[in-house]
Amino acid sequence: MRVTWSGGVLTFRLDPEDEITGHASDGHPVKLAINSCSLSDVPDDAHPDLFAVAAWTVVAPWTRRRVTFDRAVSAEVAAALHDGWGIEAGPVGAEPRRAGSTLAISYSGGADSVAAATVYPDAPFVHFQRVPHARVPNRWPHYRSDVLAKLARGTGRDLTIIRSDLEYTLAEPRPGYPEHQAVAAGALLSADRLGLGGLGFGYEMGSRWLGGGRYLLRYTPDNDLWAPHGKWGRLFAAVGVHIVLPVGGVSEAVTMRLALGSDLKDSVRWCLRGTDGPCRTCGKCLYKELIQAAIERRPLDTPITADRPVARKWMRPPPYGGQEMIQYGLARVPGIENTVFATALTYFDVTEESTSWLDHCYPRAIEEIPEPWRERAAAFMAANVGFMTDDEVRRVESWGS
Ligand SMILES: [Zn+2]
Repeated sequence: MRVTWSGGVLTFRLDPEDEITGHASDGHPVKLAINSCSLSDVPDDAHPDLFAVAAWTVVAPWTRRRVTFDRAVSAEVAAALHDGWGIEAGPVGAEPRRAGSTLAISYSGGADSVAAATVYPDAPFVHFQRVPHARVPNRWPHYRSDVLAKLARGTGRDLTIIRSDLEYTLAEPRPGYPEHQAVAAGALLSADRLGLGGLGFGYEMGSRWLGGGRYLLRYTPDNDLWAPHGKWGRLFAAVGVHIVLPVGGVSEAVTMRLALGSDLKDSVRWCLRGTDGPCRTCGKCLYKELIQAAIERRPLDTPITADRPVARKWMRPPPYGGQEMIQYGLARVPGIENTVFATALTYFDVTEESTSWLDHCYPRAIEEIPEPWRERAAAFMAANVGFMTDDEVRRVESWGS
């Protein structure tokens, strides 16, 4: 793979052994659409390692043996690429970047990232905004990235918006991040300008410790996507931008409660379809409604009926993505047996007590936050959530077994 940055345009050329089909680090199969993309407001003088890692979030799935950058990288970044991916990276010759002291939040506007933002009320935001690609047809006009950017502006936080078409480098399964970490490409390139030492993501306990949504159903302490000692964690650390998960120890029930109770509650938006609010008819809206109804202890309020395609997955047996939250909702929502979740209910024997571990913070998630930002997260969780008991910790660490 040969990588070139010119202005804000990333162009990459495949080597003979590279392929246009590949897998993201979560194992999901992906297919390449086009070999260029752009990002707005990219500083020309960013550290070469930042250009390299930002590019790697886009080209990793297609690269088989080596990556050649257009400017020399540090030995540290080359080592992290070799150790994590078995890839030869070069040329090598730059001094490593020195970490800054600022923690920014990679802010999407969803409940999880709003919750992460409430942990650090002074942290600046970096928001990734999807824009169309000049050479790829946009078959996803319902995706209202402009609405999300407007909501981000309304938060009043110090905000950097990065506009990028990098999601259109994916042909399949649909436009999206080639690697989940590509959401951070603009933040990485802005790291010197913002003095970044860390970047906070809204990934919660399910994504970090319970295998994540649709992918796995087991305890994942060594999660390669988000663990500090995973391959992405080590690569980001090598450029002095540590991955920080402020809400990595709490479930989506807690992030939802924190977000809706915060001063950013009017800016929360997890659905990418609606303009004046969530569309209420997509699969994500249904899932989030289950969680919200559970924490508000009220009946499910949804127009989605069992005959709708979006409800089909709930007619099938588990495992389900986000299964811990399904169990949490099944145990708490009044009248759930008369909803689209009636079938799912028959597969689980759940009670409020058996799912109460999902109301507390898993302590190891705080321990892995880098020292400059750990104490604040620990104090926040102690005051607003509470830590798990030993029994509850065992629920996390035996998940899926
Ligand atoms: Zn929706």
